[in-house]
Amino acid sequence: MFYSVKEDFLHYLWRMKKLHPNDLVTTDGLSVSVIDYGTYNVDSGPDFFNAKIELDNTVWAGNIEMHVFTSDWTKHGHSRDRAYDNVILHVVYEHDKSVQEDPVLAKIPVLELKGKIPRSLLDSYLTLMQSMDEIPCQRLIKNVDPAKIELWKHALMIDRLLQKANQTAAILYHENNDWEETFYILLARYFGSKVNTDPFGMLAMSLPWRIIQKNRDKSLSIEALVYGQAGMLDAGYTDNYFVQLREEYRFLRQKYELKPINPVSWKFSKMRPVNFPTVRLAQFAAVIQQSTGLFSKILKAEKTEDLRQILRAEPHSYWDNHYRFGKESPVLHKAISNDFIDLLIINTIAPILCLYGKTIDDEQYADKAIHWIESLKAENNHIVQLWKSAGVKVKTAFDSQSLIHLKTKYCDDFKCLQCKIGHEIMRDSD
Ligand code: SF4
Repeated sequence: MFYSVKEDFLHYLWRMKKLHPNDLVTTDGLSVSVIDYGTYNVDSGPDFFNAKIELDNTVWAGNIEMHVFTSDWTKHGHSRDRAYDNVILHVVYEHDKSVQEDPVLAKIPVLELKGKIPRSLLDSYLTLMQSMDEIPCQRLIKNVDPAKIELWKHALMIDRLLQKANQTAAILYHENNDWEETFYILLARYFGSKVNTDPFGMLAMSLPWRIIQKNRDKSLSIEALVYGQAGMLDAGYTDNYFVQLREEYRFLRQKYELKPINPVSWKFSKMRPVNFPTVRLAQFAAVIQQSTGLFSKILKAEKTEDLRQILRAEPHSYWDNHYRFGKESPVLHKAISNDFIDLLIINTIAPILCLYGKTIDDEQYADKAIHWIESLKAENNHIVQLWKSAGVKVKTAFDSQSLIHLKTKYCDDFKCLQCKIGHEIMRDSD
């Protein structure tokens, strides 16, 4: 065997009671009868607390510790740690050395599991752990009941939303619980996509929402504030629009005592021109200019179409034939695409709505966020393609989001023993 089992597999076998009672015999030949498997402990200390076993007609109550090798006990220094004083059974995969060398260890009965794990269960485990596929269970998942996958997807979606909501909570805390300011920063960060998230975030933090509100009756002022704070108006371009922006920003900068961010933060390389930060800033300026209270409008929205109305905005016509300042390009209208609006709904609106519901203890907001995600079509990316080729249904954004979460938080780290699909695969091999 090239791959040895890991300790979490031993925990799994014990937690799920997968070992055959006849196989439970210590290395000293005493039969072990488990009365209580104990409570699984994921923190420091023994792996299972308060177990109860019968060893050769004597009942023992205490803790259980597990290792791949018996010698791991000594390696981990457990003999010197009082937390392990009450260990009544040492469960190991392989009994690799004489326990006599460690007098503490010598007193603890050892249960060796090598050769006692049901063959098909071990095979399924090793198939998953040794898989070279990007999704380790890619060839096994077709045997899993789709209803079980659906249930698991629901739990994953909630987990993903809560995780994003927690990230949003950090911004909310920083912004003194101002929901409008928080949503404005969140929106800005998402307009930056992966590459320009930070400069977009810094820009929004350097340009308070109240200043946007005070100037929103004049689109040129908002555009000047956005490009000026982005540090993009110091160049010497002479076209009319650029000169107007620069003049307007000079005035507003002085009025509000603003300090622009460093323009070197912006990244343009390896990017399609339609995603250049200059274009995204134009779209962002258009969205924030058209509405007084974006967040309060979102709270009132009922359908995703209401959200699309809030986020649909026309950038300045200058960008119809520009991707950057001072350089003309073939005409292409740069309105925000429906696909990008959907991503904004998934990644900014749904999480903040969830956080809001959690804050005021009202579940209907999380339900609404999930309902909106269910009504959007699935994203199309490499991870989605992998799931589709494994035969998993991916129709809505709910499907794609939950499966992206599964791939990045479980499959990539081989956390199959913590995954409901992994449990089903192992169950089928009992
Ligand atoms: S974590 Fe779950 S879905 Fe991912 S490979 Fe393992 S069993 Fe399959």
